[in-house]
Amino acid sequence: MRIDVLTLFPEMFDGVFGASILGKARDKGIVELNAVNFRDYANNKHNTVDDYPYGGGGGMVLKPEPLFAAVEDLVSRQREEAAPRVVLMCPQGEPFTQRKAEQLAGEKHLIFVCGHYEGYDERIREHLVTDEISIGDYVLTGGELPAMVIIDSVARLIPGVLGNETSAVTDSFSTGLIEHPHYTRPAVFRGWEVPEVLMSGHHAKVEQWRRQQSLLRTLKRRPELLERVELTDKERLWLEQQRTEK
Ligand code: SAM
Repeated sequence: MRIDVLTLFPEMFDGVFGASILGKARDKGIVELNAVNFRDYANNKHNTVDDYPYGGGGGMVLKPEPLFAAVEDLVSRQREEAAPRVVLMCPQGEPFTQRKAEQLAGEKHLIFVCGHYEGYDERIREHLVTDEISIGDYVLTGGELPAMVIIDSVARLIPGVLGNETSAVTDSFSTGLIEHPHYTRPAVFRGWEVPEVLMSGHHAKVEQWRRQQSLLRTLKRRPELLERVELTDKERLWLEQQRTEK
C-alpha cells in the first residue's frame, strides 16, 4: 500500500513513520509512506496556501489550487489503475472506527489531507476528497495528529505488518466487543492472583472465560456495542442474567 500525506508540516511525520511497527512495515516494503508539503504546489510568488475568508470573519482558509495540484500530481505518478481514496482530516467528518480502518486497509493508495487554520475552501470538500474523517468530537490545531492515528490503525491491519496476525483479529472492536483481560507472570503479584482457569492448560475453558470476560467488559463499559454484535442464544441469556445481577 502507498500512503501519501499532504501537510504543511512534513517533519512531524519523521518520528512516527520511522519508528516501531510503521517503521518496520516501511522497511519491509509493505507500506510506502510519504509526507508531502503541499506548499510546494502553491502557484504564487510567496508560496501562499491560505487566504482570507470571503464574507469576512476571523481565521484563514486553505486555498483550493495547491491541494488540487498536489493530489493530481500524486495520482499522475501512481502505479495502480484504481483511483486513490483522498481522505480529508476534519472534525466535521464521519467518526473514525475500526470498521473504517478495515475498509481503508483494503485500498492500494491513500492520500490524507491535513488542514490547518480555520478551514478548507468548500470546493476541496465537494470536488477533491472521497472521505472526510474525524477522530473525535474535539478540535485540534491541525490534521497531522489525526492522520497519524488513522495511518497507524490502518497499517497494522495490512497482512505482514504485525508479527502476530491474530492479535489484530482479537483486538477490541475487531470482534465487535471490548477485549478480555490479559495476565502474565508472576502468578501472584503483591497478593493479587491470576485467575486459575488461565493456568489450567484447558484450552476450551480458557476460551470460554475470555469470551465471557469480553462480554462482561463490553456490558459494563460500552453496552451499546452489544446491540450490533452476533451472540448465541446462550450468550444472550447469560448476559441477561449479568444485567439483572448488575
Ligand atoms: N474551523 C474548523 C471547524 O470548526 O470544523 C476546525 C479547524 S481545525 C482548527 C484545523 C484542522 O485540524 C482541520 O482542518 C483538520 O484538518 C484538523 N482537525 C482538527 N480537529 C480534528 C478532528 N477531531 N479530527 C480530524 N481532524 C481534525
